[in-house]
Amino acid sequence: MKAYDLMAAFGAAGQAAKPPTVYRALDFLEKQGLAHRIESLNAFVACRRGPVTHSAAFLICDCCGLTAEIEPATGQEVADLGARSGFQVQSLTIEAHGLCKACQV
Ligand SMILES: [Zn+2]
Ligand SMILES: [Zn+2]
Repeated sequence: MKAYDLMAAFGAAGQAAKPPTVYRALDFLEKQGLAHRIESLNAFVACRRGPVTHSAAFLICDCCGLTAEIEPATGQEVADLGARSGFQVQSLTIEAHGLCKACQV
C-alpha cells in the first residue's frame, strides 16, 4: 500500500488532524513496523527488525541518551490477555529508563 492510499484510507479524520509531513511520514513508518515511537523522548527510532509489527522494549539511558531495542517476552502475554477480553493488540512499546553500562561508573 502506498503512503497516499494509506492517508486516503484515514479519510476525514486523517485530514482534520493535518500533522506536519515529516510526522506523518514517521507515523507511516511506524505503522509499517519500520520505526518505533518513544513517547517519553518524543522521538522515533528506526527498527532493524521490520517490516513485521512486533512488541519492543527500549533501554533508554537518561545520562547519554543511548537507546537499545530489545524484544520483551511480555509482548505475547499482553497480546494474549488483551485477546481474552476481545482486544486486538497491534503494537506494544515499553520504555525503560536508567543508566547504561558506561554511565554507571
Ligand atoms: Zn523493532
Ligand atoms: Zn549512558
